[in-house]
Formats: sequence, C-alpha cells, structure tokens
Amino acid sequence: MITEEKKEEKSLNFIEEIIESDLKAGKYTSIITRFPPEPNGYLHIGHASSICLNFGLTNKYPGYTNLRFDDTNPVTEDTEYVESIKNDIRWMGFEWKNELYASDYFDTLYGYAIKLIQSGLAYVDDSTSEEIAALKGTPTEPGKDSPYRSRSVEENLTLFERMKLGEFPDGSRTLRAKIDMAHQNMLMRDPILYRIKHAHHHRTGNKWCIYPMYDFAHGQSDAIETVTHSICTLEFVPHRELYDWLIAQLAIYPSHQYEFARRNLNYTVTSKRKLLQLVQEGHVSGWDDPRMPTISGLRRRGYTPESIRDFCERIGVARRENMIDVGLLEFCVREDLNKKALRRMVVLDPLKVVITNFPEGISEMCHSENNPEDIAAGNREIPFTREIYIEKEDFMETPSKKYFRLAPGKMVRLKGAYIIQCDDFVKDGNGEITEVRCSFIENSKSGQDTTGINVKGTLHWVSVNYSVPVEVRLYDRLFSVEDASNQEGDFKEYLNPDSLHVITGYAEPALTEAVEGESFQFLRKGYFAKDKDSIPEKLVFNRTVTLRDTWAKATEK
Ligand code: ATP
Ligand code: MG
Repeated sequence: MITEEKKEEKSLNFIEEIIESDLKAGKYTSIITRFPPEPNGYLHIGHASSICLNFGLTNKYPGYTNLRFDDTNPVTEDTEYVESIKNDIRWMGFEWKNELYASDYFDTLYGYAIKLIQSGLAYVDDSTSEEIAALKGTPTEPGKDSPYRSRSVEENLTLFERMKLGEFPDGSRTLRAKIDMAHQNMLMRDPILYRIKHAHHHRTGNKWCIYPMYDFAHGQSDAIETVTHSICTLEFVPHRELYDWLIAQLAIYPSHQYEFARRNLNYTVTSKRKLLQLVQEGHVSGWDDPRMPTISGLRRRGYTPESIRDFCERIGVARRENMIDVGLLEFCVREDLNKKALRRMVVLDPLKVVITNFPEGISEMCHSENNPEDIAAGNREIPFTREIYIEKEDFMETPSKKYFRLAPGKMVRLKGAYIIQCDDFVKDGNGEITEVRCSFIENSKSGQDTTGINVKGTLHWVSVNYSVPVEVRLYDRLFSVEDASNQEGDFKEYLNPDSLHVITGYAEPALTEAVEGESFQFLRKGYFAKDKDSIPEKLVFNRTVTLRDTWAKATEK
C-alpha cells in the first residue's frame, strides 16, 4: 500500500524531472500547462490521468494550468460536451486558471497562415485528398511535389483569401506548408494547415468556412498562451518536429511538447468515438451509464474523486503504453469508501427466518455502528422483530464442514442483535426452503452479551415488517474481453450481454435517509451509491464494487 508518507518519498516522474531541471537552470521561474480536450464527447478515465498530471504539476510547482477547448473541428463539437467537461474537472477537485478556446484564436491563426504564405512557406493546393495522398510517398520512398507547389506568393494570398470568403466547395483546396516532400518524417511532407468546411461551429457560428488542422492549431495555441510544458500522448511524437518547425518559422513563444503513454483500462474502451457509438446505439443508457468508463459514469457508479486521483497517482506517468487492470481502480475505491461509507444492512436474496420465542407484534431496537473505521460516524437504530430476512446463501440444510453460517442445530450472531439457533425449516412442494425457524438466545444481545457463547458466523439481516424494498443494480464488466478495441470485427461484438442485473433488495429503515450520490457499504455485499433515478416510492442503488469478500472466505472454505 502506498501511504501518504511513501507518496512524499516517491521518485519524480520523468516530466517532473524535466521541470525540476528547467526550474533549477533558471529557464523558467514558473510553469504553465494546459488540459486541451476536444469537446466531442464526455471525459473518460484516460483523460482523468491527463488531468491529474497537468493540474498536479502546477499544484506542485509554481505556475498554473489552463483549460483549453481544442474546438477546431466544427462538425463533432457541442456545448453539452463543454459543460460536462468543466463539471467533471471541478468534480475531480481541480480548478483551471483560464477557460480558453482554440476557436478564439481563429483570427490570429489566420494571420499566422498569411505570414507563412508571405515567407514562401505555405501554398494553396487544388489537389483532391486522393491526389495529395498519391504523391505523399511512403516511409521508405520520397513523395513528389504537388503541381501547385510553385505558385507565387500573390496568387497564394489571393486564393487563400477566396477560400476564407467561401468561394470554393468543401475539399476543393487546402493550404499546405511548404517543407520537404522527401522528408524522412511523413508528417513534414507539406502537411495540410487549413481545409475548407462549410459548417456551423458551436462558438464561431458561420463566420468561418476554413478551419485549421490540429497541427496548425495546437502548438500555436500553446504559444499564444505561453504554455511552457505541453503534455500529450505518445501518438504525437512524430508531430513534435512539425510543432517545433511552425513555432520556429512563425517566431512565436517556444512552447515544448512532451509525450507520455496513453492509459488504457481493460474490459472497457477509452475512446470518445467508441463511447459515443455505445450511447447513440443504445448499448448503454447514456454517457453517465454506471458501466461507462467516463468520469460521469464512474461518479454515478459511486466512485469518489479521491479514489480516481489515487488511481492516477498509482499508475503514474509512463513512457510506454500498457493495459491497466480495472482491479486497481476497484481497489482504490474500496480503500476510500471503507473509510467514508456508512454501513447499512440490505438483504439481496431474502429467506424468511421466524424467531419463534420472540413475541409477535413488537419490535426491539438494536444498535450498530455506522462505520467501525470512523467512531465519529456514531450508531444507528435497527428494529428487531419476530420475522426477519437473511440471505438465502446464509442457510444450508446440510452444511459443509467449515460452513459457519446458519444450518439446522447451528448458531450464528445477527449483526447488532442476538445469537440465534436454527431449530427447524420449511420446504415447499418443489423442495425449496421457504422459511427457517429459530430461537434467540436470552442475554446474547450485541454489546450486552453475558452468555459466553462463541459463534463464528455473523449475518446481516433486516426486519420483515420494517424493511424497505429498494431497486439494486448490479454491474459486471461492459466487455467480456480485456481489449475489445484490438479484436477481429467490430468492438461492439464483444459487449458483455450480462453487464447489468436489476434485483429488489430489502433494506433496513435507516437507508431511506440516503441522499442522491451517497455511498454505503451494504454489509458483506459491497459498496453501493444512491442513483439519480430514485423516487421517494422506490430508491435505486448502484453497486460500485463488491467487497473483497474476506468475511465470506473466513466463514466458508
Ligand atoms: P479520444 O480518443 O478518447 O477522443 P483524445 O486524445 O482524442 O481521446 P482529447 O479530448 O483530444 O481526446 O484529449 C484531451 C487530452 O487528454 C489530450 O492531451 C490527450 O492526450 C489526453 N488523453 C486522452 N485520452 C487519454 C488516455 N487514454 N490516457 C491519457 N491521456 C489521454
Ligand atoms: Mg482528439
């Protein structure tokens, strides 16, 4: 386990090493990072890792982090996504210095493009995308110059302006940098800087019909904001050369790009485009379906910001891609909820138990601690009555040797209440056990037990009369294979058909005080969070994660 203390001693990750040496060398006195989401979907657990890294660095070192929406593609973007992204970052516990939009730089970027044309470093190409691709060459063969490459500066300026004025249809022309069609880095072979797209943009409306490509927006936005350390994922390594080239040619602020490995989680997909398909095709109920690896899905599932930050800290910053086991994420949320979640008893698969020596029509209050890990959480009252429910699996007609739960002639403790002994049971016509008959042991009540009887099993239970039916949603992995994105055929063929089970559980009355989003440990059953679908007549709970069932293991075998 990594404790707070150990975290302090932890060695620096490679980006921290770079920053510390930059600060030491006096290259900077403070740093600026940015988190640059494209608002084309909800954030997922991979983004969480980038958020923790970027904001974490400026929490640790002097400086700040901007939130920049990388909104240069008008077709896929939406203000709904902008709002969800802001909400998710704040929920994670981070605050940005400036809220910025790449689209706010469209005028400046247009000016940069003119500057490149004037320097003879960009030209308008009338080739179709197929023609451009045909002349691109391969990693081992050089490309060929476009027939439009030698246009004069004046002609290029006029054509580029006419592109902006909307005189040409989509795809008919592009603006390309004039670098080297034989460059060993394919991305340096006259990359496209602008394309024509007659599309409405969520912020600039219909003002523009030419839009900058990623490579002509990202580094320039970094420079405009004087970002010192621009951190992205490994697939951008080959783009770094172009990033540096554009900054050098434009003589703008020299931001630097650093790359780290994309974080992938097993049994799910972390790509907004794929997650969008799941939403649009109805495989899940929405972006915040508790099975989704989105931050909003994890939140609804009952994950806490602390647990997600802890997860990101533990997986650290890597230079090489690898798959991370979702078990680690589950471990982190258990660790956190164990400290915080109030304990409640809920029977998920009820079997009626009649305590024959307990009077009918009365109830007796029992008490149990709300959280044994947190004395300040206090105690709660639980009504004990003649008829109770226990879990079906907690009774066995012919128990195995190490079964310490209820069985004929055997004793167990009811959590917070009495020791009971099983005297008899009732079966229906199909041989199903429908009722167990027990007697309680006088003077054995929890906290006041003077019997000296030592029982090995403790069961959770609820009163038949006072329990409240609640809807319980049990989740399993969304995909049945670890890496659905890298399988043959469509990734959706690997969806787990049994990822959701909805059952009715019977809860002790104290659970009705739950507020939306609140997390509980249902004793012996796991951690559960109250869902937003709850109405006063029907509370709904999502299982966040099961317990590492040490209790069951210790009593079973
Ligand atoms: P997606 O493929 O899901 O759309 P993306 O990289 O296109 O991901 P952006 O909105 O462009 O998503 O990403 C914003 C920031 O988050 C970028 O800096 C990106 O590198 C980072 N990021 C995205 N996915 C991951 C991931 N799986 N692991 C780490 N960082 C990520
Ligand atoms: Mg992207």
